Amino acid sequence: MSTIIYCSECLKEYSFIEMPLTCECGGILSIKRNANLDAGKFLNREIWSMFRYKNFLPLDCLGDAWKGITLGEGMTPVVDYGSDFGNLKIKMDYMMPTLSFKDRGASILVAAAKKLGIKEIVQDSSGNAGIAVAAYAARAGIKCSIFVPAGNSKKKIQQIYVHGADVYEIEGTREDTAKAALNKVLEEKLYYASHVYNPFFYEGTKTYVFELFEQLKGNMPDYLWVPVGNGTLLLGCYYGLLDLKSAGLISKFPKMIAVQSHNCAPVHDAFYAGEDVVKPCVNKGTLAEGIAIADPKRGKLILQALRELDGEVLTADEKAICAAAKKLAGDGFYFETTTAATFAAYFSNPDFQDKISVLPACGAGIKSSII
Ligand SMILES: *Cc1c(COP(=O)(O)O)cnc(C)c1O
Ligand SMILES: [Zn+2]
Repeated sequence: MSTIIYCSECLKEYSFIEMPLTCECGGILSIKRNANLDAGKFLNREIWSMFRYKNFLPLDCLGDAWKGITLGEGMTPVVDYGSDFGNLKIKMDYMMPTLSFKDRGASILVAAAKKLGIKEIVQDSSGNAGIAVAAYAARAGIKCSIFVPAGNSKKKIQQIYVHGADVYEIEGTREDTAKAALNKVLEEKLYYASHVYNPFFYEGTKTYVFELFEQLKGNMPDYLWVPVGNGTLLLGCYYGLLDLKSAGLISKFPKMIAVQSHNCAPVHDAFYAGEDVVKPCVNKGTLAEGIAIADPKRGKLILQALRELDGEVLTADEKAICAAAKKLAGDGFYFETTTAATFAAYFSNPDFQDKISVLPACGAGIKSSII
């Protein structure tokens, strides 16, 4: 099946080659689900990376472009938390080439740019997506400019530099950073390798649930937890689950539990207000910088996914995030502060502790931990 890109507002279709940044109506673009997935082709055991699920990824338009740039992403372990939380499993998704789950999306996104023959890309990020895109772009020989909010974790910004990208540190909010990147794209007619606008990114994050399915021998957890900023992991999980179901590999969905920072929770607010769209909020400042997104562009799709997966949205405040980071480290887990927010929500909600939960450890402590 050839890959079809369509507008999530007006449904207008585009081919891979003509894919614009957004639809002419302003709507955000998505990739059409493949209705003919063959369960027998789910897994290629000879490939020891997330590309073992390549038949369930929209790679037909990308050909073998991924082969020259893969860094062996994926295949992250699932471990039992143990001690006081017998039903808690952690997917160690920071065990990645650039130390965050963003490598799942960046490898495919940069493969798409390479296939199109793009020479220069622009991206904006709170850090981890910028690092991942800079690393894969370096490997693909694509020039790269990354916009980051000034004041984000220095170690993240330094890693973007060493991969050879031009780094623009922008004063103001995360949204000001996104605007600055978009300006450069429009003025210089460059390719916007955005993990938010470009749908190939979340097609890569689908492999998170594909791996879980394989690792847990088909028994998906009762509760699938995800942090939510721009929702690329949440949407990847959702589309991955749809794919598993349409291939007949699973018959029901796990319940999805999304986590935001109390100080920046626009999805939480829209979800419980019964809204169809996410209204931008004011980010009051949070240690969970990776989910501090006041205006998630795929908000409408995130809300739809949450409603279809019987979802809930929890929040974690700054005190609970700090306490969770300390507890995790004391139990041997050194995670990025953003990841501590997901655990903070779990630790303080006993209602969800009597059934099996999987929480993702999305980022490594070495990059941003406050402790
Ligand atoms: C990017 C990121 C998130 C949030 O992912 P979204 O796709 O923006 O929802 C969470 N944790 C870490 C460590 C991240 O880098
Ligand atoms: Zn449209």
